[in-house]
Amino acid sequence: MYTEASARSTSTSTLPPADPRLFSTPEAEEIKKEICAVGRKLWLRQFVDGNGGNISYRIGPNEVICTPTLVSKYDLTPEDLCLVDLEGHQVAGTKSRTSEIFLHLEIYKAVPEAKSAVHCHPPHATAYAITGKVPPNLIIPEFEVFVGKVAISPYKTPGTAEFAQTVLPFVRDHNTILLANHGIVCWADTVTHAEWYAEVLETYCWTLMLASQLSSPISYFTEQQASDLLEMKKKLGLPDARFDDTHFEECLAAEKQSSNKLEGKLAGIDLETLVRTITKSVLETLGAK
Ligand SMILES: [Zn+2]
Repeated sequence: MYTEASARSTSTSTLPPADPRLFSTPEAEEIKKEICAVGRKLWLRQFVDGNGGNISYRIGPNEVICTPTLVSKYDLTPEDLCLVDLEGHQVAGTKSRTSEIFLHLEIYKAVPEAKSAVHCHPPHATAYAITGKVPPNLIIPEFEVFVGKVAISPYKTPGTAEFAQTVLPFVRDHNTILLANHGIVCWADTVTHAEWYAEVLETYCWTLMLASQLSSPISYFTEQQASDLLEMKKKLGLPDARFDDTHFEECLAAEKQSSNKLEGKLAGIDLETLVRTITKSVLETLGAK
């Protein structure tokens, strides 16, 4: 749970100096291959553009493997990767580390169970991020279980320490955060899982946008259906702000309100008049030619 004290990231002064040998162990070689495979997935799914997006994995207490700057995620090879300490100093690798590594490091310092972080710009989720809108909950089971309540952190210039710290109030209770006017960041126990959460969020945002073009209201889960899903999520050990009972009640009330609002709006539309107006205007346009 977020408190003033938790907003400050953990001090790294007690950590031993980063060990560059951790960059070439058999485990590190496997992680590097996984990072490259995930980079390719991100590019193929159009979640990253140009040299955008970055991926990291915490391999030791003060050692993080990360992607370099200025390389497309499609073209990544294990030789391109870098090793940094929790302060962002590079200790191994020939290419320069991503300038957005501080975002990842803040997450590792604040959440002990976070082993990997993926930052990318998937278009539909980023559309939410640029409008400051968080997708509603209680609609699709996979989203509730693997992502759940998404937070949105305020905009700051990418690559700065200020930007990296914008996620601190949310990152313990949310494994997926919208970064205002920028993209998203997800953390998980493995690189593959962090990319899965990006996929789950992107598909969800896309589906909601498609549904918004239909004239039927969205059906929301009942209170019982929602708590069954949260129970399942708890067993999987995934974080969710709604595990706190007051949060859960607030969330249900908010979702109910938005579902009522939507139904109210749709009920207020006279479809017949709408169709007649559109037909008339189309006929007028055709007649004018
Ligand atoms: Zn970015």
